[in-house]
Amino acid sequence: MSEVVVKLALSGFKKALELTRKITDEAIKELGSDQTVEVLDTAYNVPSYHILTGKKIEKLGDIPKILDELEESVYRKCILHKMYLGKEPTIENALEAGLATLILADIIEVIKYVKTPKPYKPPYSGFISDSQIRALGVSLASGKIPGIVVVLGKAPSDEAAGKMGKEIQGLGMLGLLVGAVVEQMRRAGVRVGAEYNLIPLGDTITSAVHAASVALRVSTIFGSLKPGDREKIREYIKERVPAFVIALGPLDDITVAAGAGVIAIGLPVLTDQPVPEIPNALVPVRPEEAISKGCELRNIKIKPVKLEIPIAYGPVFEGKAIRKHDMYVEFGGGRSPAFELVVTKPLREVKDGKIEVIGPEIDEMKEGKAHPLGIVVYIAGKKMKKEYEPIIERRIHEYINYGEDTWHIGSRDICWIRISKEGYKKGFKIRHFGVILYTMIKKDFSAIVDKVQVKLITDKDEVLKAREEARKFYAERDARIAALTDESVDVFYSCTLCQSFAPNHVCIITPERPGLCGAVYYLDAKASHELQPEGPNQPVPKGKCLDPVKGEWEGVNKFVYEASHHATKRYHLYSALTYPITSCGCFECVLIASFETNGFIIIPREYVGDNPIGLRFSTLAGMIGGGKQASGTVGICKRYIVSRKFFKADGGIKRVVWMPKSLKEELKEDIIKRGKEEGIPDLYDKIADETVAKTMDELLEYLKKVDHPALKMTPLEKLMEYPG
Ligand code: SF4
Ligand code: ZN
Repeated sequence: MSEVVVKLALSGFKKALELTRKITDEAIKELGSDQTVEVLDTAYNVPSYHILTGKKIEKLGDIPKILDELEESVYRKCILHKMYLGKEPTIENALEAGLATLILADIIEVIKYVKTPKPYKPPYSGFISDSQIRALGVSLASGKIPGIVVVLGKAPSDEAAGKMGKEIQGLGMLGLLVGAVVEQMRRAGVRVGAEYNLIPLGDTITSAVHAASVALRVSTIFGSLKPGDREKIREYIKERVPAFVIALGPLDDITVAAGAGVIAIGLPVLTDQPVPEIPNALVPVRPEEAISKGCELRNIKIKPVKLEIPIAYGPVFEGKAIRKHDMYVEFGGGRSPAFELVVTKPLREVKDGKIEVIGPEIDEMKEGKAHPLGIVVYIAGKKMKKEYEPIIERRIHEYINYGEDTWHIGSRDICWIRISKEGYKKGFKIRHFGVILYTMIKKDFSAIVDKVQVKLITDKDEVLKAREEARKFYAERDARIAALTDESVDVFYSCTLCQSFAPNHVCIITPERPGLCGAVYYLDAKASHELQPEGPNQPVPKGKCLDPVKGEWEGVNKFVYEASHHATKRYHLYSALTYPITSCGCFECVLIASFETNGFIIIPREYVGDNPIGLRFSTLAGMIGGGKQASGTVGICKRYIVSRKFFKADGGIKRVVWMPKSLKEELKEDIIKRGKEEGIPDLYDKIADETVAKTMDELLEYLKKVDHPALKMTPLEKLMEYPG
């Protein structure tokens, strides 16, 4: 790094330090030095400080001393250098100043949250929560989001900013935006916001720390690294976090200091300013090349799709909504008959690429109304199996949502589809659904699908007739899946997708236990193995059964030992108390064995209300994860709760004493069904939620009142065993 950059970084740090001192003093004057320092929904206090140093900031009054220490740590080395070696500050000094600047920025940001719970107004998001990061983890690991790009500063023109925004969306990446570029993109007609994968963090440079804080927390949440272990954290981010920073426009000294901090945590910074290049760390580029260069540096690979349709298309549009007044026509949703079905046929009966519309096209449909629609996809392939039909069918949801002007929810005969007015204006036709499904199924399932044909039915009588047929298929399929139990198969499947973030984590997927992210079921894993024989889903022969109650098999243990790089020796698939499956970071719920109640308390990721444990999801989740085996605290997916194999060695669903009402309702039908099977027909009502118990005392009282079965079961502590 040239002397100029080093000097800028040091003076930037100095300015940031003065600013932080001023802001801290004001906050102490206003709120007192005993005011606690915290942001909601993170287990990491002031994340950059906590993760880089391993220490927490408890109160506002602690900050002045920390600022003195930061000043010491940056200047001491510079002064010693100068005194004993006669040397000017070096790159190491600049990097140290950079890290300290990140911490300062985080302190400034956290003080904003201490003063007011929602300091950021739309479109800005400010702090990114642990839950958001956990949700992001699966998308990154599976490649659905290939990488993260942080764009900060001001582009040379609105047009250049717009191009960059569209490029990020087109590639399906996640963009985090800071500064003038946000408004520039909007003026250029790019839609920004979380639902468009372009998240404006804030308009000042300190808000950029929320991006650095994501990278740092990925290392502790998924990589299970210990806060304070700086070297390992830097290595982890450098190797595993597919992200880079683009700094646009004139760089002031604080920005340079923050940039040095980003480099110091292991991420490259690209800039359109004339700076001396440091390979893989500080790279001058032209703005129009910045993204492709960044992807190249971080080894981010992207497969573009070419679709012959008149609307924009890509994963970035998956989360958008089409509201009633923006809708041109709709199908299903209880307003008109609609269904979707994927069926296998013999090779000679499928005409590859044929798309037909039976009934009126969109131009003959009345605007603003619901119309009948049947989507039937015929598939043929030498390796295609009937059991893969639902897997492909489930993807129709995302394939249709990827359209900027098409929207989909539900499935089977309860699907609901909309086409927007914009889409109609652009020339979107019913037959384009066929083009989308044909192209995407061919692309994603090329290893098992040879031919695809799509029939779109819009004639009401034809839809009703075909829907009856489809219902027969659904019923047959359900019967087939119900017959699929852990006992009925000889092989389970592994999933090691999350090893890109949690290097020793292994999920074992069985017919009755999906992956803890809730995204991988047995048949998915099986199909994915066919698609990618060397991929993350491998067959795991069960081998000799060592314990049918706890769910221990010789073959599983052997596999897990190797796949976890010898970190984990045994799995009890049906116990949360003895040798449970390890937890990565993207689990849907955390389950805690509560000794007070002798039962299980389950908290899903999205729940932020009170719970009897008294700790938030993010704190509880922070205690496990990273591929560690932790008896009594495990990550699970929601559907597993209503499986017959749900921790049956520990007493099964009868152990569940508390979950939030939202989750209870989501699983209602199945909880009632499982309760009946277990001989407790009113189990659903016996499980407490926040409407009857917010604290441990209230919970105990409630459990006694309803005579909850867990109270009479074997004490949890007797069952518990800690992996040695
Ligand atoms: Fe990660 Fe397990 Fe889900 Fe695979 S099944 S993506 S390893 S959580
Ligand atoms: Zn995971």
